[in-house]
Amino acid sequence: MQGQMMDYQLTLRPVLERAKRLFPRKEIVTKAGPSLERYTYEQMTERVGRLANALEKLGIRRGDRVATFAWNNSRHLEIYFAVPCMGAVLHPINLRLPGDQIAFIANHAEDQVLFVDPSLLPAVEKLAPYLKSVKQFIVMGDKVPDGTTLSPVHAYEDLLKNASPDYPWPNLDENEAAAMCYTSGTTGNPKGVVYSHRAIYLHSLGLSMADSFGISERDSFMPVVPMFHVLAWCIPFATVMLGSKLVFPGPHMQPRDLAELIQAEQVTLTAGVPTLWMGLLHLLENERYDLSSLRGMIVGGAAAPYAMIEGFKKKHGLDVMHAWGMTETTPLGTVSRLKSYQLELPEAEQFALRAKQGIPVPGVEIRAMDEGGKEVPWDGKSFGELQIRGAWVISSYYNDDRSAESFQDGWFRTGDVVTIDSEGFMQIVDRTKDLVKSGGEWISSQVLENAIMSHPKVLEAAVIAMPHPKWQERPLACVVPKPDFKDSLTKQEIFEHLKPRFDKMYLPDDVVFIEAVPKTSVGKFDKKVLRAQFKGYKMPE
Ligand code: AMP
Repeated sequence: MQGQMMDYQLTLRPVLERAKRLFPRKEIVTKAGPSLERYTYEQMTERVGRLANALEKLGIRRGDRVATFAWNNSRHLEIYFAVPCMGAVLHPINLRLPGDQIAFIANHAEDQVLFVDPSLLPAVEKLAPYLKSVKQFIVMGDKVPDGTTLSPVHAYEDLLKNASPDYPWPNLDENEAAAMCYTSGTTGNPKGVVYSHRAIYLHSLGLSMADSFGISERDSFMPVVPMFHVLAWCIPFATVMLGSKLVFPGPHMQPRDLAELIQAEQVTLTAGVPTLWMGLLHLLENERYDLSSLRGMIVGGAAAPYAMIEGFKKKHGLDVMHAWGMTETTPLGTVSRLKSYQLELPEAEQFALRAKQGIPVPGVEIRAMDEGGKEVPWDGKSFGELQIRGAWVISSYYNDDRSAESFQDGWFRTGDVVTIDSEGFMQIVDRTKDLVKSGGEWISSQVLENAIMSHPKVLEAAVIAMPHPKWQERPLACVVPKPDFKDSLTKQEIFEHLKPRFDKMYLPDDVVFIEAVPKTSVGKFDKKVLRAQFKGYKMPE
């Protein structure tokens, strides 16, 4: 027997129309230089219609890829809706990647049009000769700057001025592509991931569930995660669906900028990688801001250190919401929110649980598999590769013959090594390639980093594997002291801090002090660069 329901396609069109009808007064704020630009959902949705008409006039048709090269701002949000709702495919490009990778990505996606922030024009001018499919450029401002070498090129505001706000949005199939992103590949070329309307719609509901982030109309949401990193974790779609106030930082993502914006715009929720929030926590040691409007800071993309979660809570009363996800999972996978009875645990145990990556949200399932292809028990100790399946997990990469190796019996293989405890809390032990393989044992670089970062004089720490004649590999700790302790922090203090917490064989063989941990294009620790920097470094015998 079949259910007898309407055939209602889960696409972004009703999300846009809902925002227009129900939330016209709600605000969208963008930081632009020293000033704040603000307008309403009514203006935003009207401009989305104009933009779709303009793109159609430029020749954009259903299925065509439309790229952006831009920071988090309101025009970028308009593109986020105009492109998928007209049936084309939004493709935000990671502007921090090296030029050859950007050209590879744009050519592989066959982008037809490229939107560019005026401040990023010089970078795109350099790349333009290598972009084979791009037929038009659009500068996201009032006018095309004199002397640009891009051609043909239009000014965003000119296109909108000359277009009608009424666009006959097509009825799309929910399985049609809405957007695509590329993984920030560490080996080989980046891989393309194509998101359907259905995946984004369901994922938006996933983000708004009370036990994930509970996003609502009453929130003032500041996505700091770039709109080119997994579609800003799809926050722009969920917030517009719900009518939340949106606050975009533009290119201004220093801790002080963020603290000022949170205070000025009464931000209730924000999201980004741990490095950002480590910086903010450090800033708050010396400067005062009223951040009491914040009800949560969503932290993902890399492990949120215990010390950071504890520091925000104990010193400032702020809650870190730790989450795990990947480009391939749109990205929401797991969230570490405590169950009712876990709130009765001693405080330290609660922080330890919140430093885990958490339980799967409804809509996805997880398991951990050993090297022999057997599921490991949920005992919080046994390691395995994390696998995931669900409504917003990809089933293959875009036109890529490396797809097969990433799937096993309908599950996606993440490449993350994890434990899962009896309560279902997943904990990332490491990326497979970052584990330190010492003798027969595996040492988790992330666990060591977390412990070192809980030292009050340490700002950041990254642990890498160094070759060792006897043990195969041994850990080297690369530590960034807080500025006030730059000249005084000693190796001895780090060892003293670690000794009571670890067995001797887990301790790093050496500690080196560095200026900063190198970061990837999306702000994670870049251990590849660190390994190259310390290649040949002589560890103590
Ligand atoms: P990306 O596709 O760039 O979002 O990277 C996904 C990878 O980031 C995952 O496979 C993890 O290795 C890592 N990652 C994401 N969230 C977390 C987290 N909360 N803790 C530790 N690693 C994470």
